[in-house]
Amino acid sequence: METITLNNGVKIPQLGLGVFKVADDDSLKNSINAALAAGYRHFDTAKIYHNEDGVGQALADADVKREDLFVTSKLWDNVTTYDDTKRAFEASLKRLQMDYLDMYLIHWPSEGYTEKWRAMEDLYNEGLIKAIGLSNFEQPHLEKLLASAKVLPVVDQIETHPYFQQGTLHGLLHDLNIRHEAWGPLGQGKSDVLTNPVLADIATAYNKSTAQVILRWHLQRGEIVIPKSIHEARIQQNIDVFDFALTPAEMAKIAGLDRNQRGSSDPQDEAWLQ
Ligand code: NAD
Repeated sequence: METITLNNGVKIPQLGLGVFKVADDDSLKNSINAALAAGYRHFDTAKIYHNEDGVGQALADADVKREDLFVTSKLWDNVTTYDDTKRAFEASLKRLQMDYLDMYLIHWPSEGYTEKWRAMEDLYNEGLIKAIGLSNFEQPHLEKLLASAKVLPVVDQIETHPYFQQGTLHGLLHDLNIRHEAWGPLGQGKSDVLTNPVLADIATAYNKSTAQVILRWHLQRGEIVIPKSIHEARIQQNIDVFDFALTPAEMAKIAGLDRNQRGSSDPQDEAWLQ
C-alpha cells in the first residue's frame, strides 16, 4: 500500500475503506474483516454514520495492532462550540474504543467552524489526534478558517469523481499544501460513471474494471481515496490498483469526462448548512 506523508509528517495509507451507510454490525464486521485481509489499514467513518461503535468493535476484535491502523472520524454539524467539540470528540473516541484518533475532520463548513477548529487544534496539541483536517470546505470557507488557524489542516475531504473533478479546488488545495481526499470516488452509484464507455475501454486494455480505472485515476492525481463496498470481491478489487498505471493520454481522456456534476449537496448552499 502506498502512503502519503501529510503536511505535519503523519503518514496515511493512500487508499482506505469508506463505511458510509454501513449500519448493521454484521455487514460492518464482514466488510472490515474482508478489507483487513485484503490489506486495507485505513478506515473512514463519522459520527453521523452511526457506526463508530461497530467499527471500533470490529477493529478491536481483529488481529491488527492499533499503531498499524489509520482511523478517521468526523465531527457532525449539530456541534457548534469549542466545549461541545471536545465532548463530541471524546464520545467518538469512546465509541471507537480508542485512546487516540489518527485523523479527525470537520464534516461540513457549518456554524461555528472556526471555534470547532480551535478545539481540534487543542486536542491535536494534546496528542489525542494525530492529524486534523476538513471536509466539504470550499475556497471561502478555507480562507475564513485559515485566517485564524494555528494548525494547517492536513486534508480537505471533498466529493470527487470523473463527472465532478473539482479542478479549481484541487489546484487551490495543492497550493495550500492541504491534501485532496476524495469522497464518493466511484460516484456513489448516482450516475452511469461505472459504465462509461471511455473508462470501460481503458479498463479492458488493462484487464481491470472501470471502478479500478477510476480509483487509479484518483491515485495518480495524488488524492487519498476511500471507496466503499460491503462485498468481499469488490473490497478486494478496489485495493488491487497498485500494479498498473494510466498513461498521460489516458489521464487526459478521463479529464475530458468532467461534467461538473455534483451528486450531493453544495457546501456553498448556506441554507442547507443551517
Ligand atoms: P462511493 O463512490 O465509494 O461508491 C460506493 C458504491 O459504489 C457502492 O455502494 C457500490 O454500489 C459501488 N461500488 C463499490 N465498489 C465497486 C466496484 N468495484 N465495482 C462496482 N461498483 C462498486 O461512495 P461513498 O460510499 O458515498 O463514498 C466513499 C466514502 O467516502 C464513504 O463510505 C464515506 O466514508 C466517505 N464519504 C464522505 C462524505 C463527506 O461528506 N465527507 C460524504 C460521502 C461519503
